[in-house]
Amino acid sequence: MSGLVDSFGRVHRDLRISLTDKCSLRCTYCMPEEGVPWIPKQSVLTAEEIERVVRVAAAEGIESVRLTGGEPLISPNLIEIVRRITSIRGPSGPLEVSMTTNGIRLPEFIPGLEEAGLSRLNVSIDTLDPDRFFELTRRDRLIDVLAGIEAARRSTLKPLKLNAVVIRGVNDDEVVDLVEFALEHEAEMRFIEHMPLDAGHTWVRGEMVPRDEILAALRKRFDLEPVPGRGGAPAESFAIDGGPARVGVIASVTAPFCANCDRLRLTADGQLRNCLFARDELDIRSALRDGASDQAIRDILRAGVAGKRAGHGIDSPDFVQPDRGMNAIGG
Ligand code: SAM
Ligand code: SF4
Repeated sequence: MSGLVDSFGRVHRDLRISLTDKCSLRCTYCMPEEGVPWIPKQSVLTAEEIERVVRVAAAEGIESVRLTGGEPLISPNLIEIVRRITSIRGPSGPLEVSMTTNGIRLPEFIPGLEEAGLSRLNVSIDTLDPDRFFELTRRDRLIDVLAGIEAARRSTLKPLKLNAVVIRGVNDDEVVDLVEFALEHEAEMRFIEHMPLDAGHTWVRGEMVPRDEILAALRKRFDLEPVPGRGGAPAESFAIDGGPARVGVIASVTAPFCANCDRLRLTADGQLRNCLFARDELDIRSALRDGASDQAIRDILRAGVAGKRAGHGIDSPDFVQPDRGMNAIGG
């Protein structure tokens, strides 16, 4: 029986862990070019500390862990962390451990990740055009991302999912091309609505391309049938031309899925967040370093879940964007 049930009856089964706030790209919707207030090195959780939190969380009902960042591939302890977490059993067997990455340097990491027991990958790719890639990420690294996706295609880390944030006037004319690219790479493309989570606080609603517009553009080329049984998944899934290939849309802004949310988040500096948009965090790092018992850590996890709000409230007049950007929260 899970201990992580909130006041709305939502059972928490998924833990997202940010391994670092640093990144090899500077996506405009996530990080500013300069002036990022980096998490001090000594505040970043060690592999042992992450393992300890995950063990307690698994005993409380967590079944899956997603590693993210910042860019998890630049965490010096990545393989060790994967190895430690995949050896932990949850309520229904070994934890499913996946990772979201920008794909840069993925080819050299894949053998180690496979050997350490990672299940699967989400790789972010917003555009197939090198100039646009530079405009969106402020780095000339499309070729490295493409190499990462090709290595993922050839790996055992399946199913492979590709993520794109759709930005009006930048890459919104590429949704069909991105789906075709994903199909060629035996992957599922997922389009994400742009959320107000950029560290530069530059989000404007008008630049966000809503779910309905994304689907309308895709339907000009593909026949899309909704796939039932979404559960707590952020992505609404559609079968392409009768399936089995699929495409997903993550409509956090225009069609929020908060009512079925089963996720908790741990930042790289060991702060527990019960929502991407949470304003408050609970300090697990200090508890760990002050010698807290497993029960005390469990109580922090339970308190985080108990304090979870019904929804993110982006549409409410008193919505305030979190201080931290997506790179520090862990997307
Ligand atoms: N660096 C890795 C990557 O880019 O995949 C992992 C971390 S990144 C923060 C995780 C996901 O969050 C990526 O798919 C990224 O596109 C998405 N993301 C970042 N900022 C976002 C925003 N403001 N709105 C929507 N999605 C965002
Ligand atoms: Fe880095 Fe990912 Fe943020 Fe882009 S979205 S800047 S790749 S953390």
